Amino acid sequence: MRIGNGATELDARGREIAANLQAVTGRIGGAARAAGRDPASVRLVAVTKTFGVDDVRRLAALGVTDVGENRDQEAAPKAAAVPALRWHFIGQLQRNKARSVASYASCVHSVDRVRLVAALDLAAQQADRTLDICLQLRLDDDPAHGGAASRQLPALADLVEEAGSLRLAGVMCVPPSGADPDSAFAAAAAIAADLRRTHPTASMFSAGMSGDLEAAIRNGATHVRVGTALLGGREHFLG
Ligand SMILES: *Cc1c(COP(=O)(O)O)cnc(C)c1O
Repeated sequence: MRIGNGATELDARGREIAANLQAVTGRIGGAARAAGRDPASVRLVAVTKTFGVDDVRRLAALGVTDVGENRDQEAAPKAAAVPALRWHFIGQLQRNKARSVASYASCVHSVDRVRLVAALDLAAQQADRTLDICLQLRLDDDPAHGGAASRQLPALADLVEEAGSLRLAGVMCVPPSGADPDSAFAAAAAIAADLRRTHPTASMFSAGMSGDLEAAIRNGATHVRVGTALLGGREHFLG
C-alpha cells in the first residue's frame, strides 16, 4: 500500500497512526513474501471501532481505503461522515440493523444464519445496493459465539447466491480464544477451499487481526482486520 505523502500536514496523532500503518503494512508484506504471496493479495481492513471519526479521516488521508466496524450504532454516523471509504461490517448483526448496515456497508463479514441473509437481501434491495457477503465460520462448539458451523456453510452460501442483492464473497473467521492461530486458520482455510469448489465466487478469506495476522496470511487470508496495531488499545472505551 502507498502511504500518503502529506506528512507535514499530520498532527501528532496522525504521525503516530502513520508509523503504526507503516509497521502493519511491513508485517503484511513480510508475511506475504515469506509465504510466497504477492503482498498486494492481502487487503488491510482498518478496524476503527471505539475510535473517533477523526482517526477514520487520518487513516483515509494516509491511503487506507477499507475500514471495519462491529456495531451499527457506531458505524452508521462514521460512514455518513466519511462515505468515500469501503465500510466493512465485522460484528454480530441483529436483523433489525440490516436496513441501516445495508445503507453504508460494502461488505458484511459476519453472516451466520438464514434469517440474516433474507433481512440483508431485502435491505440491500430497498437501498438499491449490492452487498458483498462473507459467511462467518465458527471454529468451536459454542453457538453463543458468532458464526455458523462448517456443515451449515453450503446451504447458507446457496441462499446468498440466490439472493438478488447479495454477492457471495467468501468466508470470515475469528480463532477461538486460546486456540493456536495457525491450526485454527489452517482448519478454516480448508473449509473455505471446500466451499469454493461448489461456490467459486467465495474467494475472500477474512482472517487475522493485530496479534495473528502473520498466521492468517500464511494460511491464505485475503483480508486482515486490524485495529489495535493501527490505532492503539481500546481501554479508552467504557462500554
Ligand atoms: C475488533 C475486531 C478486530 C480487530 O482486532 P484487533 O486485535 O484490535 O486488531 C478484528 N475482527 C473483529 C471481528 C473484531 O471485532
